[in-house]
Amino acid sequence: LACSAGSQRTRPKFHVLAFYTVKTEADHLDFARQAVTFFADEAKRDNFDWHVTTNWNDLNAANLQHYQLVVWLNDSPHDPSQRSAFEQYMKRGGAWLGFHFAGYNDSSTGWPWFSRDFLSAVFLTNSWPPLPAELTVEDRSHPVTRGLPATYISPANEWYIWKPDPRAGKDIHVLVSLSPANYPLGMKDTLVSGDLPVVWTNTRYKMLYCNMGHGDKIFTSQIQNQLFRNAILWLGDAVKSSSP
Ligand code: ZN
Repeated sequence: LACSAGSQRTRPKFHVLAFYTVKTEADHLDFARQAVTFFADEAKRDNFDWHVTTNWNDLNAANLQHYQLVVWLNDSPHDPSQRSAFEQYMKRGGAWLGFHFAGYNDSSTGWPWFSRDFLSAVFLTNSWPPLPAELTVEDRSHPVTRGLPATYISPANEWYIWKPDPRAGKDIHVLVSLSPANYPLGMKDTLVSGDLPVVWTNTRYKMLYCNMGHGDKIFTSQIQNQLFRNAILWLGDAVKSSSP
């Protein structure tokens, strides 16, 4: 009985399955590996289960039933059966956290549900090289942005701009965006103007997309790390949206 009470106390609050790939550009892998370590530490601190795989075939219905949250670190499923399993998982109340290249999709992607109904954004262009940028926290009352200042400097990243702009999606709630004060942003590839949402959620799903994720500087901001921590706890349902 004592044993059972003990295990009761340490039971993880929720279970996370994170996907990444080693067959990608070095900067994307650097971020993925740092994220694996960062969230493993958070898992210990906040008592959730953090499981990592590079096998995208783990994205199947039988396996997903063990997890409350799926994380994509700079990759996404390419196989129709993996895509279909994910779509069903999300429609049945699963949660998703995607970083940077995980949200990349263009005219060749061929996954309209993801582009149109879920992420509500299609990649248009990016800034280059990776640079820090001032971000505006548009909604500071959301559980994901709790404790963040109105603006902060986000470490060096490659920033994506989208068309259609996710903000145009009727169910999209933009939480963080690029401050227009950054323009022109970039040197080789320069963004000169335009709305650039960085963190958003589609309110029809339990999901959050963060454009951060390029290179090895992303976790150097304590402010931004708080956002990531908030995000995983919110999506894992350890933080209730209704709580004051
Ligand atoms: Zn990138």
